[in-house]
Amino acid sequence: MEETIFTKIINGTIPSTLIYHDDLVSAFADIAPKAPHHILIVTNKPIPSVAHVEAEDEAALGRLFTAARKIATDLGVNEKGYRLIVNVGEDGGQEVPHIHMHLLAGDKLGGMGFPQSK
Ligand code: 5GP
Repeated sequence: MEETIFTKIINGTIPSTLIYHDDLVSAFADIAPKAPHHILIVTNKPIPSVAHVEAEDEAALGRLFTAARKIATDLGVNEKGYRLIVNVGEDGGQEVPHIHMHLLAGDKLGGMGFPQSK
């Protein structure tokens, strides 16, 4: 199976600002930040999307949240607040087929994503 862009980042084949790594998840800065802090937290296992998760993935999926809390604490925003987003599939706007959680912080965030007008 072709490696995803995020697997290449985790392995160091593609350079990134890796800010967290453990046995289940890794985190790095988004290349096109949408907020003062925009971090991607990804499962080390290249699960394509939430549409493909299995019970055996629960530990990794739970770790996305504990890693998010740790990263938010390190950034100094855990109390003030932030937004976690997981896009799923084409209609959800997912571009990279490797499960990841966006952590957006550092400013008041705008509204949630409503359907695009056709
Ligand atoms: P999605 O739309 O799949 O939920 O989010 C994919 C995210 O990956 C986007 O915010 C995009 O900016 C980010 N991204 C795509 N390619 C790269 C890359 O090569 N490096 C990093 N650090 N982020 C990337």
